[in-house]
Amino acid sequence: MSVRFIFRCQFCSEQPDPLTQLNLEKAMREITWGAYQNVLPGRWLMFHAHGLYGSPRYACDKHRGDLVAHLREHFGTIGFHVWKRPPYPNSLAHADTDHAWIAATRRQGGWGS
Ligand SMILES: [Zn+2]
Repeated sequence: MSVRFIFRCQFCSEQPDPLTQLNLEKAMREITWGAYQNVLPGRWLMFHAHGLYGSPRYACDKHRGDLVAHLREHFGTIGFHVWKRPPYPNSLAHADTDHAWIAATRRQGGWGS
């Protein structure tokens, strides 16, 4: 049984397109906090919160700037994470392992192409 998360931009209640939804779900599984992450292809911005920052935040392409401003206003005095400047990474914890995996499967000539 799989759990389907509902993501909404906290400023306009927009919901992501299916591919961005998928990548938001992937991003949720990254074990990190206090970090911004781009979520493609819809160019959503996610803030991995937890701990003193509360729950994770999401914003659509149009409201990325609003999310950053909002977080800085509310958490700017308690943590330095929210002051991080772009460019934000598309992937966090597993970037290197993903890359290695893709390279390995390419060498074997499997998986499409
Ligand atoms: Zn929005």
